[in-house]
Amino acid sequence: MIKQDSTYEKISSKSDFSKWYNDALSAAGILDQRYEMKGMIVWLPYGLSIMKSLINKWDELFSKNGIKEAYFPQIVPIKYCEINESWWEGFKTEGYKVIAGSEGEIQGALRPTGEPAIYPMFSMWTRSANDLPIKIYQTVNSFRYETKQTRPLIRAREITHWFEIHTAHSTKQEAENELKAHLKIMDYFYEEMLALPIFMVNKPIWDCFPGSVGAFEYYSLMPDGKVMENGSANNLGQAYAKKFEIKYKNDKGLEEYAWMICTGNGARFLAAAISEFGDDKGLILPPRIAPIQATIIPIIFKGKEKKVFEQVKKMQKELSKMGIKYETDSRSISPGRKYYDWEVKGIPLRIDVGPKDVDSKKCLITIRFSKEKLSIKLNELKKIKGLLDKIHEDMLKSSRKRLHESIIFTSSKKDLIKAVDSKKIAKVYWCGNKDCYDKISSLGEGYEGFGTSTDSKGAGKCLNCQKTSYEELFIAKSY
Ligand SMILES: [Zn+2]
Repeated sequence: MIKQDSTYEKISSKSDFSKWYNDALSAAGILDQRYEMKGMIVWLPYGLSIMKSLINKWDELFSKNGIKEAYFPQIVPIKYCEINESWWEGFKTEGYKVIAGSEGEIQGALRPTGEPAIYPMFSMWTRSANDLPIKIYQTVNSFRYETKQTRPLIRAREITHWFEIHTAHSTKQEAENELKAHLKIMDYFYEEMLALPIFMVNKPIWDCFPGSVGAFEYYSLMPDGKVMENGSANNLGQAYAKKFEIKYKNDKGLEEYAWMICTGNGARFLAAAISEFGDDKGLILPPRIAPIQATIIPIIFKGKEKKVFEQVKKMQKELSKMGIKYETDSRSISPGRKYYDWEVKGIPLRIDVGPKDVDSKKCLITIRFSKEKLSIKLNELKKIKGLLDKIHEDMLKSSRKRLHESIIFTSSKKDLIKAVDSKKIAKVYWCGNKDCYDKISSLGEGYEGFGTSTDSKGAGKCLNCQKTSYEELFIAKSY
Protein backbone atom coordinates (compact mmCIF):
# COMPACT_ATOMS: atom_id res chain seq x y z
CA MET A 1 0.00 0.00 0.00
CA ILE A 2 2.81 2.40 0.85
CA LYS A 3 5.93 2.65 -1.23
CA GLN A 4 8.89 1.57 0.92
CA ASP A 5 11.21 4.02 -0.74
CA SER A 6 8.87 7.01 -0.83
CA THR A 7 10.32 10.21 0.46
CA TYR A 8 8.50 12.64 2.74
CA GLU A 9 6.48 14.73 0.35
CA LYS A 10 5.83 18.19 1.60
CA ILE A 11 2.19 19.17 1.32
CA SER A 12 1.65 22.86 0.78
CA SER A 13 -0.06 24.86 3.51
CA LYS A 14 -3.85 24.71 3.58
CA SER A 15 -3.93 28.51 3.41
CA ASP A 16 -3.33 28.02 -0.32
CA PHE A 17 -6.37 25.76 -0.56
CA SER A 18 -6.26 24.98 -4.29
CA LYS A 19 -2.72 23.74 -4.15
CA TRP A 20 -3.19 22.00 -0.82
CA TYR A 21 -6.23 20.12 -2.15
CA ASN A 22 -4.35 18.63 -5.10
CA ASP A 23 -1.29 17.84 -2.99
CA ALA A 24 -3.30 16.21 -0.21
CA LEU A 25 -5.25 13.96 -2.61
CA SER A 26 -2.05 12.76 -4.25
CA ALA A 27 0.03 12.35 -1.11
CA ALA A 28 -2.73 10.35 0.62
CA GLY A 29 -3.02 7.98 -2.31
CA ILE A 30 -6.59 8.93 -3.19
CA LEU A 31 -5.96 9.74 -6.83
CA ASP A 32 -3.30 9.80 -9.47
CA GLN A 33 -3.82 12.99 -11.41
CA ARG A 34 -1.29 12.32 -14.16
CA TYR A 35 -3.68 10.59 -16.56
CA GLU A 36 -3.42 12.57 -19.76
CA MET A 37 -7.05 13.44 -20.32
CA LYS A 38 -8.28 16.71 -18.89
CA GLY A 39 -10.87 16.31 -16.16
CA MET A 40 -10.38 12.55 -15.83
CA ILE A 41 -8.52 10.96 -12.96
CA VAL A 42 -7.31 7.57 -11.78
CA TRP A 43 -8.77 6.41 -8.47
CA LEU A 44 -6.15 4.59 -6.41
CA PRO A 45 -7.14 1.66 -4.15
CA TYR A 46 -7.08 3.73 -0.96
CA GLY A 47 -9.23 6.49 -2.46
CA LEU A 48 -11.64 3.98 -3.89
CA SER A 49 -11.96 2.19 -0.56
CA ILE A 50 -13.09 5.47 1.07
CA MET A 51 -15.56 6.09 -1.74
CA LYS A 52 -16.78 2.49 -1.37
CA SER A 53 -17.68 3.09 2.28
CA LEU A 54 -20.06 5.81 1.05
CA ILE A 55 -21.38 3.69 -1.84
CA ASN A 56 -22.02 0.70 0.43
CA LYS A 57 -23.98 2.97 2.75
CA TRP A 58 -26.15 4.38 -0.01
CA ASP A 59 -26.77 0.87 -1.37
CA GLU A 60 -27.97 -0.08 2.11
CA LEU A 61 -30.13 3.02 2.69
CA PHE A 62 -31.74 3.01 -0.76
CA SER A 63 -32.58 -0.67 -0.42
CA LYS A 64 -34.19 -0.02 2.98
CA ASN A 65 -36.34 2.63 1.29
CA GLY A 66 -37.46 0.28 -1.49
CA ILE A 67 -35.31 1.98 -4.13
CA LYS A 68 -33.78 -0.71 -6.34
CA GLU A 69 -30.52 -0.59 -8.23
CA ALA A 70 -30.71 -0.74 -12.02
CA TYR A 71 -28.33 -0.27 -14.90
CA PHE A 72 -28.81 1.82 -18.01
CA PRO A 73 -26.27 1.86 -20.87
CA GLN A 74 -23.58 4.53 -21.05
CA ILE A 75 -24.33 5.32 -24.70
CA VAL A 76 -27.60 7.21 -25.12
CA PRO A 77 -29.33 7.21 -28.54
CA ILE A 78 -29.39 10.72 -30.01
CA LYS A 79 -33.15 10.39 -30.57
CA TYR A 80 -33.61 9.96 -26.79
CA CYS A 81 -31.52 13.10 -26.25
CA GLU A 82 -33.68 15.04 -28.69
CA ILE A 83 -36.90 14.36 -26.78
CA ASN A 84 -36.12 17.25 -24.46
CA GLU A 85 -35.01 19.96 -26.93
CA SER A 86 -34.03 22.65 -24.44
CA TRP A 87 -31.90 20.17 -22.47
CA TRP A 88 -30.25 18.90 -25.66
CA GLU A 89 -29.55 22.44 -26.78
CA GLY A 90 -27.30 22.82 -23.73
CA PHE A 91 -25.66 19.42 -24.09
CA LYS A 92 -25.03 19.44 -27.84
CA THR A 93 -21.65 21.04 -27.26
CA GLU A 94 -21.06 19.76 -23.72
CA GLY A 95 -21.88 16.17 -24.61
CA TYR A 96 -19.33 13.61 -25.85
CA LYS A 97 -20.38 11.80 -29.03
CA VAL A 98 -19.50 8.19 -29.67
CA ILE A 99 -18.20 7.50 -33.16
CA ALA A 100 -17.75 4.01 -34.57
CA GLY A 101 -17.87 2.12 -37.87
CA SER A 102 -16.03 2.62 -41.14
CA GLU A 103 -18.10 5.69 -41.98
CA GLY A 104 -17.40 7.22 -38.56
CA GLU A 105 -21.07 7.43 -37.76
CA ILE A 106 -22.28 8.98 -34.53
CA GLN A 107 -23.75 6.11 -32.52
CA GLY A 108 -25.01 8.14 -29.60
CA ALA A 109 -23.97 10.44 -26.80
CA LEU A 110 -21.89 9.40 -23.84
CA ARG A 111 -24.35 9.74 -20.97
CA PRO A 112 -24.28 13.41 -19.92
CA THR A 113 -27.09 12.94 -17.36
CA GLY A 114 -29.52 10.16 -16.56
CA GLU A 115 -32.82 11.53 -17.84
CA PRO A 116 -32.48 10.78 -21.59
CA ALA A 117 -31.32 7.22 -20.86
CA ILE A 118 -33.85 6.42 -18.17
CA TYR A 119 -37.12 8.23 -18.92
CA PRO A 120 -37.81 6.71 -22.36
CA MET A 121 -37.72 3.34 -20.58
CA PHE A 122 -40.02 4.61 -17.81
CA SER A 123 -42.43 5.53 -20.59
CA MET A 124 -42.36 1.93 -21.92
CA TRP A 125 -42.82 0.49 -18.43
CA THR A 126 -45.82 2.57 -17.40
CA ARG A 127 -49.22 1.43 -18.66
CA SER A 128 -51.55 1.34 -15.67
CA ALA A 129 -51.45 2.68 -12.11
CA ASN A 130 -50.32 -0.81 -11.10
CA ASP A 131 -46.99 -0.18 -12.80
CA LEU A 132 -46.28 2.64 -10.35
CA PRO A 133 -44.40 3.56 -8.31
CA ILE A 134 -41.13 2.96 -10.10
CA LYS A 135 -38.23 3.56 -7.71
CA ILE A 136 -34.77 2.92 -9.08
CA TYR A 137 -31.24 4.23 -8.78
CA GLN A 138 -27.99 3.81 -10.61
CA THR A 139 -24.43 4.46 -9.44
CA VAL A 140 -22.83 5.60 -12.62
CA ASN A 141 -20.37 7.89 -14.40
CA SER A 142 -21.44 10.85 -16.49
CA PHE A 143 -19.51 12.78 -19.09
CA ARG A 144 -19.45 16.47 -19.86
CA TYR A 145 -17.03 18.47 -21.90
CA GLU A 146 -16.39 21.05 -19.17
CA THR A 147 -14.79 24.20 -20.39
CA LYS A 148 -14.29 25.68 -16.93
CA GLN A 149 -11.24 24.76 -14.86
CA THR A 150 -11.57 21.15 -13.74
CA ARG A 151 -10.78 20.01 -10.20
CA PRO A 152 -10.64 16.42 -8.97
CA LEU A 153 -13.88 15.13 -7.39
CA ILE A 154 -15.40 18.61 -7.76
CA ARG A 155 -15.58 19.49 -11.43
CA ALA A 156 -14.67 16.78 -13.91
CA ARG A 157 -15.27 15.74 -17.48
CA GLU A 158 -15.89 12.23 -16.25
CA ILE A 159 -18.05 12.47 -13.14
CA THR A 160 -17.41 9.25 -11.25
CA HIS A 161 -19.34 7.36 -8.55
CA TRP A 162 -22.51 9.38 -8.93
CA PHE A 163 -25.83 8.07 -7.70
CA GLU A 164 -29.06 9.03 -9.32
CA ILE A 165 -32.42 8.11 -7.85
CA HIS A 166 -35.36 8.38 -10.23
CA THR A 167 -38.87 7.67 -9.07
CA ALA A 168 -42.30 7.93 -10.70
CA HIS A 169 -45.61 7.93 -8.82
CA SER A 170 -49.32 7.96 -9.55
CA THR A 171 -50.12 10.77 -7.10
CA LYS A 172 -48.58 14.09 -6.21
CA GLN A 173 -48.75 13.28 -2.51
CA GLU A 174 -46.86 10.03 -2.92
CA ALA A 175 -44.13 11.84 -4.88
CA GLU A 176 -43.84 14.45 -2.13
CA ASN A 177 -43.47 11.76 0.51
CA GLU A 178 -40.76 10.15 -1.57
CA LEU A 179 -38.91 13.46 -1.76
CA LYS A 180 -39.01 13.73 2.02
CA ALA A 181 -37.46 10.26 2.31
CA HIS A 182 -34.66 11.32 -0.06
CA LEU A 183 -33.94 14.42 2.04
CA LYS A 184 -33.67 12.22 5.13
CA ILE A 185 -31.12 10.04 3.36
CA MET A 186 -29.10 13.09 2.28
CA ASP A 187 -29.20 14.47 5.82
CA TYR A 188 -27.96 11.12 7.13
CA PHE A 189 -24.96 11.26 4.82
CA TYR A 190 -24.01 14.70 6.00
CA GLU A 191 -24.38 14.30 9.73
CA GLU A 192 -23.91 10.59 10.35
CA MET A 193 -21.28 9.69 7.79
CA LEU A 194 -19.33 12.80 6.82
CA ALA A 195 -19.57 14.76 10.10
CA LEU A 196 -20.61 17.79 8.04
CA PRO A 197 -23.48 20.19 8.71
CA ILE A 198 -26.68 20.04 6.68
CA PHE A 199 -26.86 23.18 4.57
CA MET A 200 -29.87 22.89 2.32
CA VAL A 201 -31.49 25.67 0.28
CA ASN A 202 -34.56 26.11 -1.89
CA LYS A 203 -33.71 26.79 -5.51
CA PRO A 204 -35.60 29.67 -7.15
CA ILE A 205 -38.14 28.26 -9.57
CA TRP A 206 -36.44 29.75 -12.65
CA ASP A 207 -33.38 27.64 -11.86
CA CYS A 208 -35.47 24.45 -11.93
CA PHE A 209 -36.56 22.50 -14.99
CA PRO A 210 -39.49 24.32 -16.66
CA GLY A 211 -42.73 22.95 -15.27
CA SER A 212 -41.20 21.28 -12.24
CA VAL A 213 -42.36 22.10 -8.73
CA GLY A 214 -39.07 22.91 -7.03
CA ALA A 215 -35.68 21.71 -5.94
CA PHE A 216 -33.61 21.44 -2.80
CA GLU A 217 -29.89 21.77 -3.11
CA TYR A 218 -27.22 21.00 -0.58
CA TYR A 219 -24.11 23.14 -0.28
CA SER A 220 -20.72 22.82 1.36
CA LEU A 221 -18.66 25.75 2.52
CA MET A 222 -15.12 25.24 1.30
CA PRO A 223 -11.99 26.49 3.10
CA ASP A 224 -11.47 29.25 0.52
CA GLY A 225 -14.86 30.72 1.45
CA LYS A 226 -16.58 29.57 -1.73
CA VAL A 227 -19.66 27.38 -1.65
CA MET A 228 -19.91 24.14 -3.57
CA GLU A 229 -23.19 22.58 -4.67
CA ASN A 230 -23.24 19.15 -3.11
CA GLY A 231 -26.29 17.13 -4.05
CA SER A 232 -29.84 17.95 -5.01
CA ALA A 233 -33.32 16.56 -4.66
CA ASN A 234 -35.80 17.64 -7.32
CA ASN A 235 -39.55 17.60 -7.34
CA LEU A 236 -40.11 17.34 -11.09
CA GLY A 237 -43.89 17.45 -10.80
CA GLN A 238 -45.28 16.18 -14.12
CA ALA A 239 -42.86 18.19 -16.26
CA TYR A 240 -40.63 15.31 -17.36
CA ALA A 241 -43.56 12.89 -17.54
CA LYS A 242 -45.14 15.20 -20.10
CA LYS A 243 -41.92 15.46 -22.11
CA PHE A 244 -41.19 11.73 -22.07
CA GLU A 245 -44.80 10.50 -22.21
CA ILE A 246 -44.67 8.71 -18.87
CA LYS A 247 -48.39 8.16 -18.41
CA TYR A 248 -50.91 5.58 -17.38
CA LYS A 249 -54.65 4.96 -17.63
CA ASN A 250 -56.49 5.59 -14.36
CA ASP A 251 -59.46 3.48 -13.23
CA LYS A 252 -61.79 5.68 -15.28
CA GLY A 253 -59.77 4.88 -18.38
CA LEU A 254 -58.34 8.43 -18.57
CA GLU A 255 -54.68 9.07 -19.22
CA GLU A 256 -52.68 10.70 -16.45
CA TYR A 257 -49.07 11.73 -16.25
CA ALA A 258 -46.80 10.39 -13.53
CA TRP A 259 -45.35 12.55 -10.73
CA MET A 260 -41.59 12.32 -10.54
CA ILE A 261 -38.66 12.87 -8.18
CA CYS A 262 -34.95 12.69 -8.87
CA THR A 263 -32.08 12.98 -6.40
CA GLY A 264 -28.36 12.70 -6.95
CA ASN A 265 -24.87 13.23 -5.66
CA GLY A 266 -21.50 11.51 -5.60
CA ALA A 267 -17.81 12.10 -5.04
CA ARG A 268 -18.40 15.71 -3.98
CA PHE A 269 -19.45 14.24 -0.62
CA LEU A 270 -15.87 13.09 -0.22
CA ALA A 271 -14.39 16.32 -1.60
CA ALA A 272 -16.26 18.30 1.06
CA ALA A 273 -15.13 16.10 3.98
CA ILE A 274 -11.51 16.13 2.83
CA SER A 275 -11.57 19.89 2.38
CA GLU A 276 -13.27 20.60 5.69
CA PHE A 277 -11.08 18.56 7.98
CA GLY A 278 -7.65 18.18 6.37
CA ASP A 279 -4.65 20.10 7.70
CA ASP A 280 -1.09 20.89 6.71
CA LYS A 281 -0.16 17.25 7.38
CA GLY A 282 -2.76 15.88 4.98
CA LEU A 283 -6.17 14.25 5.31
CA ILE A 284 -8.24 13.80 8.46
CA LEU A 285 -11.03 11.34 7.75
CA PRO A 286 -14.27 11.15 9.72
CA PRO A 287 -14.18 7.69 11.38
CA ARG A 288 -17.32 6.35 9.68
CA ILE A 289 -15.96 6.75 6.17
CA ALA A 290 -12.39 5.75 7.03
CA PRO A 291 -11.51 2.37 5.48
CA ILE A 292 -8.80 2.09 8.14
CA GLN A 293 -9.93 3.54 11.49
CA ALA A 294 -6.81 2.78 13.49
CA THR A 295 -3.20 1.86 12.85
CA ILE A 296 -1.17 -0.11 15.32
CA ILE A 297 2.47 0.94 15.37
CA PRO A 298 4.72 -1.57 17.13
CA ILE A 299 7.75 0.30 18.53
CA ILE A 300 10.59 -2.15 18.12
CA PHE A 301 13.74 -2.40 20.20
CA LYS A 302 16.32 -5.10 19.62
CA GLY A 303 15.67 -8.19 21.71
CA LYS A 304 12.20 -7.01 22.77
CA GLU A 305 10.39 -7.70 19.51
CA LYS A 306 8.77 -10.86 20.78
CA LYS A 307 6.88 -9.37 23.68
CA VAL A 308 5.74 -6.36 21.64
CA PHE A 309 4.40 -8.53 18.82
CA GLU A 310 2.65 -10.84 21.28
CA GLN A 311 0.89 -7.81 22.67
CA VAL A 312 0.06 -6.55 19.18
CA LYS A 313 -1.56 -9.89 18.35
CA LYS A 314 -3.83 -9.66 21.37
CA MET A 315 -4.80 -6.11 20.41
CA GLN A 316 -5.56 -7.12 16.83
CA LYS A 317 -7.90 -9.80 18.13
CA GLU A 318 -9.64 -7.31 20.38
CA LEU A 319 -10.07 -4.71 17.62
CA SER A 320 -11.44 -7.32 15.19
CA LYS A 321 -13.96 -8.43 17.80
CA MET A 322 -15.21 -4.83 18.07
CA GLY A 323 -15.47 -4.52 14.28
CA ILE A 324 -12.83 -1.81 14.11
CA LYS A 325 -10.99 -1.59 10.79
CA TYR A 326 -7.27 -1.45 11.49
CA GLU A 327 -3.85 -2.03 9.96
CA THR A 328 -0.60 -2.92 11.67
CA ASP A 329 2.54 -1.23 10.38
CA SER A 330 5.33 -3.73 11.03
CA ARG A 331 7.79 -2.27 8.54
CA SER A 332 11.31 -1.94 9.85
CA ILE A 333 11.53 1.80 9.34
CA SER A 334 11.56 4.64 11.84
CA PRO A 335 8.35 5.37 13.80
CA GLY A 336 8.51 8.96 12.50
CA ARG A 337 8.30 7.74 8.95
CA LYS A 338 5.36 5.50 9.86
CA TYR A 339 3.56 8.36 11.61
CA TYR A 340 3.94 10.51 8.51
CA ASP A 341 2.56 7.82 6.21
CA TRP A 342 -0.61 7.27 8.25
CA GLU A 343 -1.14 10.93 9.13
CA VAL A 344 -1.16 11.94 5.47
CA LYS A 345 -3.87 9.32 4.84
CA GLY A 346 -6.00 10.77 7.62
CA ILE A 347 -6.41 7.61 9.74
CA PRO A 348 -8.49 8.69 12.79
CA LEU A 349 -6.44 6.84 15.46
CA ARG A 350 -2.87 5.74 15.92
CA ILE A 351 -1.99 3.19 18.59
CA ASP A 352 1.66 2.97 19.65
CA VAL A 353 2.89 -0.10 21.52
CA GLY A 354 6.48 -0.35 22.75
CA PRO A 355 8.20 -2.63 25.27
CA LYS A 356 7.57 -0.14 28.11
CA ASP A 357 3.87 -0.07 27.29
CA VAL A 358 3.78 -3.86 27.46
CA ASP A 359 5.40 -3.71 30.92
CA SER A 360 2.95 -1.10 32.20
CA LYS A 361 0.03 -2.80 30.39
CA LYS A 362 -0.86 0.35 28.50
CA CYS A 363 -0.76 1.77 24.96
CA LEU A 364 -0.62 5.30 23.64
CA ILE A 365 -3.41 6.54 21.42
CA THR A 366 -3.06 9.63 19.25
CA ILE A 367 -6.18 11.19 17.75
CA ARG A 368 -5.57 12.60 14.27
CA PHE A 369 -8.34 15.22 14.47
CA SER A 370 -7.75 16.77 17.91
CA LYS A 371 -4.07 15.75 18.18
CA GLU A 372 -4.82 14.57 21.72
CA LYS A 373 -2.77 11.75 23.21
CA LEU A 374 -4.39 9.26 25.54
CA SER A 375 -2.88 6.48 27.55
CA ILE A 376 -5.26 3.54 27.63
CA LYS A 377 -4.93 0.36 29.67
CA LEU A 378 -4.63 -2.69 27.50
CA ASN A 379 -7.62 -4.30 29.18
CA GLU A 380 -9.71 -1.24 28.34
CA LEU A 381 -9.34 -1.31 24.58
CA LYS A 382 -13.13 -1.53 24.37
CA LYS A 383 -13.12 2.22 24.90
CA ILE A 384 -11.84 2.69 21.35
CA LYS A 385 -15.29 2.09 19.88
CA GLY A 386 -16.75 4.95 21.92
CA LEU A 387 -13.71 7.06 21.17
CA LEU A 388 -14.37 6.82 17.41
CA ASP A 389 -17.95 7.98 17.98
CA LYS A 390 -16.68 10.86 20.08
CA ILE A 391 -14.25 11.88 17.34
CA HIS A 392 -17.16 11.88 14.89
CA GLU A 393 -19.21 14.11 17.20
CA ASP A 394 -16.28 16.49 17.75
CA MET A 395 -15.73 16.80 14.01
CA LEU A 396 -19.43 17.48 13.39
CA LYS A 397 -19.46 20.10 16.12
CA SER A 398 -16.46 21.86 14.64
CA SER A 399 -17.78 21.86 11.05
CA ARG A 400 -21.20 23.09 12.20
CA LYS A 401 -19.58 25.88 14.16
CA ARG A 402 -17.54 27.00 11.16
CA LEU A 403 -20.60 27.11 8.92
CA HIS A 404 -22.68 28.86 11.56
CA GLU A 405 -20.01 31.53 12.05
CA SER A 406 -19.64 32.01 8.31
CA ILE A 407 -23.24 32.99 7.60
CA ILE A 408 -23.55 36.73 8.12
CA PHE A 409 -26.88 38.51 8.07
CA THR A 410 -26.52 41.75 6.14
CA SER A 411 -29.00 44.55 5.53
CA SER A 412 -26.99 46.83 3.25
CA LYS A 413 -25.21 46.30 -0.05
CA LYS A 414 -22.01 47.54 1.51
CA ASP A 415 -22.17 44.96 4.30
CA LEU A 416 -23.03 42.21 1.82
CA ILE A 417 -19.94 42.97 -0.24
CA LYS A 418 -17.81 43.18 2.89
CA ALA A 419 -19.06 39.76 4.05
CA VAL A 420 -18.62 37.95 0.73
CA ASP A 421 -15.21 39.50 0.10
CA SER A 422 -14.06 38.27 3.50
CA LYS A 423 -14.98 34.69 2.47
CA LYS A 424 -18.33 34.59 4.24
CA ILE A 425 -21.84 33.71 3.12
CA ALA A 426 -24.16 36.71 3.17
CA LYS A 427 -27.84 36.27 4.03
CA VAL A 428 -30.30 39.01 3.09
CA TYR A 429 -34.03 39.58 2.88
CA TRP A 430 -35.42 39.25 -0.60
CA CYS A 431 -38.91 40.00 -1.94
CA GLY A 432 -39.25 37.02 -4.31
CA ASN A 433 -38.83 39.05 -7.48
CA LYS A 434 -36.38 37.69 -10.08
CA ASP A 435 -35.04 41.10 -10.98
CA CYS A 436 -34.12 41.76 -7.34
CA TYR A 437 -32.59 38.28 -7.06
CA ASP A 438 -30.39 38.94 -10.08
CA LYS A 439 -29.34 42.39 -8.87
CA ILE A 440 -28.48 41.17 -5.37
CA SER A 441 -26.61 38.20 -6.82
CA SER A 442 -24.40 40.32 -9.03
CA LEU A 443 -23.12 42.92 -6.58
CA GLY A 444 -19.56 41.63 -6.96
CA GLU A 445 -17.45 39.57 -9.30
CA GLY A 446 -18.00 35.83 -8.98
CA TYR A 447 -20.93 36.31 -6.59
CA GLU A 448 -23.86 33.97 -6.78
CA GLY A 449 -27.24 33.92 -5.15
CA PHE A 450 -27.51 30.20 -4.58
CA GLY A 451 -30.92 29.75 -3.04
CA THR A 452 -33.13 30.68 -0.16
CA SER A 453 -33.38 29.52 3.41
CA THR A 454 -35.74 26.60 4.02
CA ASP A 455 -36.69 27.99 7.43
CA SER A 456 -36.96 31.76 7.02
CA LYS A 457 -38.37 33.44 10.06
CA GLY A 458 -39.84 36.90 10.38
CA ALA A 459 -39.75 39.66 7.83
CA GLY A 460 -37.48 42.44 6.69
CA LYS A 461 -36.86 44.75 3.75
CA CYS A 462 -35.69 43.40 0.37
CA LEU A 463 -32.07 44.42 -0.01
CA ASN A 464 -32.77 45.70 -3.51
CA CYS A 465 -36.28 47.20 -3.61
CA GLN A 466 -36.99 47.70 0.12
CA LYS A 467 -40.36 45.95 -0.11
CA THR A 468 -41.42 43.87 2.89
CA SER A 469 -39.92 40.43 2.35
CA TYR A 470 -40.25 37.03 3.99
CA GLU A 471 -37.55 35.14 2.15
CA GLU A 472 -33.87 34.95 3.04
CA LEU A 473 -31.42 34.63 0.19
CA PHE A 474 -27.84 33.35 0.44
CA ILE A 475 -25.01 34.93 -1.55
CA ALA A 476 -21.41 33.77 -1.77
CA LYS A 477 -18.72 33.07 -4.29
CA SER A 478 -19.22 29.62 -5.75
CA TYR A 479 -17.39 26.83 -7.54
ZN1 LIG B 1 -37.05 43.20 -4.10
